[in-house]
Amino acid sequence: MPTATRTRTPVLDAACAAAVDLAREAAVAEAGEPDLVGEWLAASSDGDRLVTHSFACRNRAYRGWCWAVTVARASRAKVVTVDEVVLLPWEDAVLAPEWVPWSDRLRPGDLGVGDVMVTSADDERLVPAYASADDPEEEAVAYCLGLGRVRVLSVDGRDDAVDRWYAGQAGPQVPIAAAAPARCGTCGFWQPLRGDLGQLFGACANEYAPDDGGVVAADHGCGAHSEAVVEAVVEAARAPLRAPARVASGDGEELGHS
Ligand code: SF4
Repeated sequence: MPTATRTRTPVLDAACAAAVDLAREAAVAEAGEPDLVGEWLAASSDGDRLVTHSFACRNRAYRGWCWAVTVARASRAKVVTVDEVVLLPWEDAVLAPEWVPWSDRLRPGDLGVGDVMVTSADDERLVPAYASADDPEEEAVAYCLGLGRVRVLSVDGRDDAVDRWYAGQAGPQVPIAAAAPARCGTCGFWQPLRGDLGQLFGACANEYAPDDGGVVAADHGCGAHSEAVVEAVVEAARAPLRAPARVASGDGEELGHS
């Protein structure tokens, strides 16, 4: 049967709590100048006959910090001694932001020339592949299936990519696709990807298209679609036909406009 564990809150030792001057002297000695140690802030019990006195820090480089001086007393002894002096952040201390691992800070597009990004062994976007073949035909099949590579795209990794691509610049919602004369799926420059992804995505192979060399969805599109047709516009003559005006000269002869 489990037993309950009680934790006892240490009582503030009276002798240690009264040793404010001793603690201040220790803080000044550590700071190097009396002006760098400000007003007494608090005393807290860290254990039996173990008390920490806090003094405001007047060093401008440590705004909001405090000098923490821990004093102690041996059992049945009356003499209080200094245990340690440290600078600690107080309520208004200026602190560095909480550290975040690089893997959580990295964003798409951060990888630059020469950078190396390690993919973790348990990256859920990848799954292991187990076999390889010497026969070129088998190799081709194996390559399509992902065999021969250490790891291949997992279902999660594939679904992530599909969601990301479809919602991004390669999808159907972007303005260039909405204004396109037809969709990529009917374009001669669209090369469907192999495998499941080919049902929805292909590579654009039109050097005049903004997405040339990129993966685009079947219902993406652009104005460089292979079957886009330019309709000739013939401007109709707007002015009505009429006879040229004639002007009579002084001797009664009619003159026409040249
Ligand atoms: S040229 Fe335009 S319509 Fe054709 S595949 Fe490329 S992006 Fe799609």
